[in-house]
Amino acid sequence: NRIVEIKNLNKEYTLGGETVKALDNVSFSINKGDFIAIIGPSGSGKSTLMNMIGCLDMPDSGEYFLDGQNVFQLKSKQLADVRNHKIGFIFQSFNLLTKQSAFENVELPLIYRGLNSKERKEIALTALKKVGLLERAGHRPTELSGGQQQRVAIARALAGNPPILLADEPTGALDSKTGVEVMKLIKDLNKQGHTIILITHDLEIAKQAKRVIRIQDGRLREEKEVGVS
Ligand code: ADP
Ligand code: ADP
Repeated sequence: NRIVEIKNLNKEYTLGGETVKALDNVSFSINKGDFIAIIGPSGSGKSTLMNMIGCLDMPDSGEYFLDGQNVFQLKSKQLADVRNHKIGFIFQSFNLLTKQSAFENVELPLIYRGLNSKERKEIALTALKKVGLLERAGHRPTELSGGQQQRVAIARALAGNPPILLADEPTGALDSKTGVEVMKLIKDLNKQGHTIILITHDLEIAKQAKRVIRIQDGRLREEKEVGVS
C-alpha cells in the first residue's frame, strides 16, 4: 500500500565555505490514495525535497522506494524512465508550450511513450474532459485564463496515468478565487483515488490536504495526520 517510502535522506550544500543542511535525516512514507501537503517557509528545503521525490536529484545519503523501486540505485536513464512513468508534475508556472494547443500539450508525454495517434487522442481528450476543458482543446495557452492553463497542465500530468501527482505551489500564480477552483479539482482527483503530494508555503492551501508535514531547516514534523479533522 506504500507508494513512497523515504528513509534518512540527507543533503548538504556548501556555498562560499558555509555548509547548509538542506535535508536533515528526512524519513516519511505515503500510502496510495493519500493527499499530503509539505509546508515550509522559503529556504526550509522544500525544493530540495521535491527534487528528490520527483527523481530529479540525488541525496548525499538515504533511500527512496517509489512504487517498490529503489530509486537512488538506478542509472540516470532508468531514473528518467521512472520519473516519466511514476510522477505527474504540476508546476506553479504551468510550463505549457505556448505555440501548441491544449490538446497538443496534453498529448506530448504520450508521444514520448510511443502511443499511436488514435490512442493519444483518446487519452488526451479523456484527461481534458476530467479537468472540464474538453471544449477548449483547440485553444493555445494564451487564449486561456490562468486557471484554465493550470487545468491543462493537470490534464497533461494525468495523461501519463502516473501513480503520483506532484504539485509544486500549483496555485502560486493564480488569484485566490481561481486558486480555490484549482484546489477543488485537486481534491476531486484525490477523491477519485489519485495520490497527491503538494508543496506549498501557504497554510490555507496545505490545510486542505489529508496530511500536513512541516519542513523547517531541512527537518520534517508531522502536523496533521490522516483521519484527524
Ligand atoms: P525552499 O524550496 O524551501 O525555499 P530549498 O530546498 O531551495 O528551500 O533550500 C534549502 C536550503 O538549501 C537553503 O538554505 C538554500 O539556500 C540551500 N540551497 C538549495 N539549493 C542550493 C544550491 N544549489 N547551492 C547552495 N545552496 C543551496
Ligand atoms: P520508454 O517507455 O520507451 O522507456 P520513455 O517514455 O520512458 O520511453 O522515454 C523516452 C525518452 O523520452 C526518454 O529520454 C525520456 O526522458 C523522454 N521523455 C519521456 N516522457 C517525457 C516527457 N513527458 N517530457 C519530456 N521528455 C520525456
